[in-house]
Amino acid sequence: MLDKYKRDINYLRVSVTDRCNLRCVYCMPKEGVSLIGHNDILTYEEMLRIIRIAQKLGIVKVRVTGGEPLVRRGVTGFLGELSRLGFEDVSLTTNGILLETFAEPIRRAGVSRVNVSLDSLDPERYARITRGGDLSTVLRGLERAEQVGFSPIKINVVTVRGFNDDEALSFARLTLEKPYEIRFIELMPIGGEKGSDGNYVSNDELMERIGRVGTLHPVDRGTGGRNLGGPARRFRLDGARGAIGFISPISHNFCHACNRLRLTADGGLRACLMIDGEIDLKGPMRGGCSDGDLEMLIRKAIMSKPRGQQTDGAGGDRSRRKCAREMSAIGG
Ligand code: SAM
Ligand code: SF4
Repeated sequence: MLDKYKRDINYLRVSVTDRCNLRCVYCMPKEGVSLIGHNDILTYEEMLRIIRIAQKLGIVKVRVTGGEPLVRRGVTGFLGELSRLGFEDVSLTTNGILLETFAEPIRRAGVSRVNVSLDSLDPERYARITRGGDLSTVLRGLERAEQVGFSPIKINVVTVRGFNDDEALSFARLTLEKPYEIRFIELMPIGGEKGSDGNYVSNDELMERIGRVGTLHPVDRGTGGRNLGGPARRFRLDGARGAIGFISPISHNFCHACNRLRLTADGGLRACLMIDGEIDLKGPMRGGCSDGDLEMLIRKAIMSKPRGQQTDGAGGDRSRRKCAREMSAIGG
């Protein structure tokens, strides 16, 4: 369905939980976040009901996220039901900690692609960024994902100055030997440690650094002219098996081409990641509303999608942030 600005809204991100088995510094404060009460989290049946109606309105791609989606009990069964609805693409974003165990069952359930968040290739640093995560567990998860046939495997790297920006070249080099797509994501002023706004690094700076050691050849997004390709600018180094993508919500915001809706774990339908304003679907659903009523609410969310957000191109400012929810509650 088209929104007010003629953008085709065809992509739904569903956060199935706000719980997580890590505490990444840029996503959650050290003391953790206040969690949504268990009764307030949508059941899988409620999520599937919303997803089916959204499908009728033109959603063709669904990404399951969290918190950490693989920590929610029953997620494989949910992914199976979701895959049977016949979407063009059902994908998952995970921190990879449980991927070694889940890669095979979720592949069998019908998930077509996984994105794994991995911000450092150094074990000690990885533990610091995630506040306790074990890098070798994630690397085993990636191997397993490759073995069971996930392709492409995308690796999300959020760059934080002073933490991991010096690893851009190591990640870029990984694409020479592995068929991974490394996606550098600019740090957004949502969630995480207070006072970390100065830690933003623009993707232009990373491109320049990577460009000094190898030519970045642009890669065609191949979406047949449809608004399905996502916001990454993609490149390949000479002879590389994998690719490098740059997702730059701060320095080159992509609001003009945004095709997304987000469903939070407690049933809020969000039209924009950065600007608050959600339409509650849980209350009406639990109050007995009809599918027609739900459809109207989803249409209303689509029509309420703002034209875009103002970014200052300098990393944003958490003290001025317009987003009151934590990233772990929205799902990224
Ligand atoms: N737990 C899963 C994971 O880490 O992949 C899924 C949820 S996580 C919120 C989704 C994505 O959001 C991750 O790739 C994470 O790195 C990214 N993210 C979290 N906080 C961010 C921030 N402040 N700026 C940019 N990306 C962020
Ligand atoms: Fe958890 Fe993902 Fe947030 Fe890290 S980025 S704390 S893994 S939800």
